[in-house]
Amino acid sequence: MSVFDNPAFDAHERVQFCHDPESGLHALIAIHSTALGPAAGGARMWQYATEADAITDVLRLSQGMSYKNALAGLKLGGGKAVILKSADFVESDALFEAFGTFVEQMGGAYVTAEDVGMRVDIMEVIARRTRYVTGLPQREGQAGGDPSPKTSWGIFNGIEAAVSFKLKRDSVDGLRVAVQGVGNVGYHLCRYLHQAGARLVVADIDEARVARAVSEFDATAESLDSILYADVDVVAPCALGAILDADSIPRLKTPIVAGGANNQLATHADGQRLFDADILYAPDYVINAGGIINVASEYYGDADDDEVVRRVTAIGDRLTGIFAEARISGQPTNVVADEQARRIIAEAAGAAD
Ligand code: NAD
Repeated sequence: MSVFDNPAFDAHERVQFCHDPESGLHALIAIHSTALGPAAGGARMWQYATEADAITDVLRLSQGMSYKNALAGLKLGGGKAVILKSADFVESDALFEAFGTFVEQMGGAYVTAEDVGMRVDIMEVIARRTRYVTGLPQREGQAGGDPSPKTSWGIFNGIEAAVSFKLKRDSVDGLRVAVQGVGNVGYHLCRYLHQAGARLVVADIDEARVARAVSEFDATAESLDSILYADVDVVAPCALGAILDADSIPRLKTPIVAGGANNQLATHADGQRLFDADILYAPDYVINAGGIINVASEYYGDADDDEVVRRVTAIGDRLTGIFAEARISGQPTNVVADEQARRIIAEAAGAAD
C-alpha cells in the first residue's frame, strides 16, 4: 500500500523517510499539520513487525498530535517521528546525531521530543545537530526535562474529572484503578493515584517495573492478559495503542477508561462501542496532553514550572466539557473531541489563507 492510500494518511503535509547508512538510522518523520504552528510531537524508538506498521503508526500518531495540540490550546501543529529498531539495532551517538540532522533539515517545520523508548540523554545528543528539539534537561524553575511526570499529572486530573462525572465521586480515594504499563507515564500516574488513596492493580511486560509499583505503591500485580478486564472503577491504559477493539470492549468491567497511551481505540468505531457499552472514555490525546504542554512551554519559554502545572491541571475541566457535550449531543467522546480539534485547526488554516 502506498503512503497516500494508507487510511491513516489524512492529508498529511509531509512524510520524510530518513536513512543514514553509516549509523544504520532508519526513521520516519510525519508532519500532519502546521496550521497552528510548527509540527510538534515526540520520536518513538520501536521495533515494528513490518515497515508498513511503522508508517501507519507514525501517521496515526502525528494526526493525533495535531488534534492534541489544538485542543490543548497550543500554538503547535502535529507531527511525530519513529526510529525503527531492527534485530541487530545498536544505539549510538552517531545514529541520534543523524536523526538530529534530518530534523534540522526540516527547518523548524518539525520539533521533536521524547516518546516511547527515548530518554533525556538521547535528546541531548540529538540537540548537537538541531535546534528543533525539546525534552532537554530542566533548568531551575523552568519548563523542560522528561515530560512524563506532567503527562501523568494531566491523566490524574483527567481521571478525577471522569470519576466525578460518571461516578459522582469527588476523589479517587478508595477507588480501584487498573494501570496497564508502569513505565514512565504509568509509574508517575500510580504515584499520584496512590497519594490520593486509590487502590492499584498493575501489569507490565517488564517484571521489575511491576515489582517497583508493588513495593512503592502497594499495588497488586495482575496478569498481562487480564489487566484490562479487571473489576475496577477505572482502567488506565499506559502502554501501547489499539487495545480497545471489538474483542476487548465487550469484556471490560470498568465504567471508565482514562489513561495515557496514545491511540487507544483500534478504530474510530470503537469509540461508539464504548459509548454503547455505557463506558466513559477520556479521549487519549486530551487526557495525555500534559507532556506536550510542558514541551510547548519549554520551546516557547513562556512559563515557569508553576504555570505549566496550572496549564496541565486544566485538562480535567477540558475533559468535563467534552463529557458534558457528549452526553447532550448523544455522541461518543472521541467524536466530540475530534470535531472540536478539527474546528480549531480549520479556523487557523482559514486565518492563514
Ligand atoms: P514507556 O516505554 O516508559 O512505558 C511503557 C510501558 O509499557 C513499559 O514499561 C512497557 O514494558 C510496558 N508495556 C508494553 N507493552 C505492554 C503490554 N502489552 N502490557 C503491559 N505493559 C506493556 O513509555 P511511556 O513514556 O510511559 O509511554 C506510555 C504511553 O503513553 C505510550 O502510548 C506513549 O505514546 C504515551 N504517552 C507518553 C507521553 C510521555 O510524556 N512519555 C505523553 C503522551 C503520551
